[in-house]
Amino acid sequence: MAPKKDYYEILGVPRNATQEEIRKAYRNLVKKWHPDLHPENREEAEKKFKEITEAYEVLSDPEKRAQYDQFGYVGEHPFSTSTSGHTGSGKTIFEDLFGDFEDIFDMFFGRRPGARTEERRTPKPGEDINMVITIELSDVLTGKEVPIEYERREVCDACGGTGADGGVSFRTCPRCGGTGVIREEQRTFFGTFINTYTCPTCGGTGKIVEKRCRVCGGIGYILRKRRIKVKIPPGVEDGARLRVANGGHCGTDGGPYGDLYITVKVRDDPRFRREGDDVYTEIKVNFVQAILGSTVVVPTLEGPQPFKIPPGTQPDTVFRLKGKGLPNMRTGKRGNLYVIVKIEIPKRVSSKERKLLEEYAKMENINID
Ligand SMILES: [Zn+2]
Ligand SMILES: [Zn+2]
Repeated sequence: MAPKKDYYEILGVPRNATQEEIRKAYRNLVKKWHPDLHPENREEAEKKFKEITEAYEVLSDPEKRAQYDQFGYVGEHPFSTSTSGHTGSGKTIFEDLFGDFEDIFDMFFGRRPGARTEERRTPKPGEDINMVITIELSDVLTGKEVPIEYERREVCDACGGTGADGGVSFRTCPRCGGTGVIREEQRTFFGTFINTYTCPTCGGTGKIVEKRCRVCGGIGYILRKRRIKVKIPPGVEDGARLRVANGGHCGTDGGPYGDLYITVKVRDDPRFRREGDDVYTEIKVNFVQAILGSTVVVPTLEGPQPFKIPPGTQPDTVFRLKGKGLPNMRTGKRGNLYVIVKIEIPKRVSSKERKLLEEYAKMENINID
């Protein structure tokens, strides 16, 4: 026969304790001595856990308690919790005590496969990265492949992003006992409520890293330089945002990479003004050229080009060069280049030039007095 145990002492309750007091004491002790909470001292915790449960099995059952009070033991064999843990009523003592078996499972036996796993360890997508690149207006015409170099967080290969040495060096989180959630009982006037929230120690994973990954130091990612080529499409608008899928930082807990966003700035070109797919440019033409007509040079997106202005061209005349504008980003069809004629009048003339102009004025009956 096993030595007699003082069940009251084990539960820390007086001999005249009520059922409610016994229940409460047991509950607290079970929380304290659950073996998962003592990975460094598991054997002792298991022993204690069994002892506590054994004491509760007896003291919570009025019949067994009476027998124990009278004889100092119950039945022929000391009770052992290594079996099913059933009380006389056929319910497990866990059910008896907590009502909901699922809760008990969560509380004592860590994460159940499937079920609430996802909700505890939600993969989070990585952060996006934003960049600005500047291109020339001529690049808008042709499109451009721009090499880009930037740094981003990438999943550490050595630990698979877990931060644990070799991706395996974990132990059960002592705070939540591996469940990933903290349960708090709150007694109020209306009754007892159980609050549950994600365990802040393990972040809901139920595990904490025992030995940190030597490559990333335990953070699960490493900063890596990345070189990519980004295709800027022809006709891109100033301020357009291009998205490079999965070009951002790595996610956590297996979440996907974020995206890379590239804002395209088109550098101002003093020669051109852009309006959608159309481009405007101004040329200065001497008044004599405007009167007599002439071949002048106009700037175009493809470089300077000769352009014939007809005799008698008026100030601010706009010539349209069809299809010499920028391509439309969707259709590829090019807009127009509009050439605005500004007529230059000389600020000073020589005496010889003056004579010629006076002669012209006399001929045309223009008063110059
Ligand atoms: Zn935890
Ligand atoms: Zn690592």
